[in-house]
Amino acid sequence: MKTDFNNNNLKLAIQKKGRLTDDTILFLENAGLILDTDGQRLFAKCRNYPLDIVFVRDDDIPDFVENSTVDIGIVGENILYEKNSRVQKMLLLNFGYCRLVIAVQKDLPISNIGDLNKSKITTSYPRSVQRFFNSQNIPVDILEVKGSVELSPALGISSVVADLTSTGSTLAICDLRIIETIFESQAVLISRTNINNRRQGLIDSLIFRFKAFLEAQKYKYVMINAPEEKLEQITKIVHGLKSPTVTPLAIKGWISIQTAIQENVFWEKIEKIKEIGASGIIALPIEKLII
Ligand code: ATP
Ligand code: ZN
Repeated sequence: MKTDFNNNNLKLAIQKKGRLTDDTILFLENAGLILDTDGQRLFAKCRNYPLDIVFVRDDDIPDFVENSTVDIGIVGENILYEKNSRVQKMLLLNFGYCRLVIAVQKDLPISNIGDLNKSKITTSYPRSVQRFFNSQNIPVDILEVKGSVELSPALGISSVVADLTSTGSTLAICDLRIIETIFESQAVLISRTNINNRRQGLIDSLIFRFKAFLEAQKYKYVMINAPEEKLEQITKIVHGLKSPTVTPLAIKGWISIQTAIQENVFWEKIEKIKEIGASGIIALPIEKLII
C-alpha cells in the first residue's frame, strides 16, 4: 500500500491503540466508509470517500486539529476539556462514554467534596480537576500521574483520586468509592477552525453520513399486523417519522402497519399496541436514516 497522502483529501486523526480505536473504526465502517489500513495501523485510506486517516495518540489529536496538521479528528470530550483546545466540536458520536470522577478510599470518613479541603488528589487530568475545585472554592493539592491513577491509594501516594471510569468497576476493585462526577464525556468529531470551502463541503457531507447512521441507531423498523378497525388507535401510539405505511393483509379486515419506533420507548409502545390487538410484530434494525 502506498504511504503518501493525497493533499486534496480530507485528513482525519483517530486513536492508534486504546479504548477508542475499535469503536472508532467500527463507527466509520457503519457510516458506510470502506477503509484500507496498512499492517502497522499508521494510516488508512478510504476507498469510497476522499479521506485519509492517521493513527496517533489520543492526546495529540486536538493539537493536530488545532495546528491544521489534519482537518478533523475523533477524540474523547475529556481530552478537549483538559487541554482547553481551540477546535470546533462538530458531532457527538454516541460511543466512548466515560466520566471523570472523584473517588476516595472506601473506609475514609468522607461523604462529599466539602470534606476534601486541602486533600492531596492524584489524577491524569490536573487542569480539569483544578478548574473544578476552583469553581467550588475548595483548595486541594493536585498530583499529576500519567497512568494507573487507581493504584495511588494502595501505593500510599494519596487517598483521593480523580479518574476516568465507565462502569466504576476498576475503582471498586481498588476499594475506592465514588463521591462526585466532575464531567461526563463521549467521543466527538472535531474540526479545525479555518478551512476552505471545498474541505468544509467534504466535512459537511461526511457529517451527513455520520448523522444518518447515528439517527438510525435510535430507531427500530417495525412491522405490525392488526385488525383494520384498530388502525387509528395504533397510529396514535406508533405514528412513525411522518405517518405509518399501511397495506392490506391477505385476510379480510386485517392490515400490516410499517413504522419506525424510537429505541428508548420501544417496549412501552409495543406493550400498548399489543394490548389493543396488534400481533405478529417484527422489529428490524435500521442501517441509515435520513430525516
Ligand atoms: P493513548 O496511548 O492514545 O494516549 P490513553 O491510554 O491515553 O491512550 P485510553 O485509556 O485508550 O487512553 O482511553 C482513550 C479514551 O477512551 C479516553 O480519553 C476516554 O475518552 C475514553 N474512555 C472510555 N471509557 C474509558 C474508561 N473507562 N477509562 C478511560 N477512558 C475511557
Ligand atoms: Zn492518551
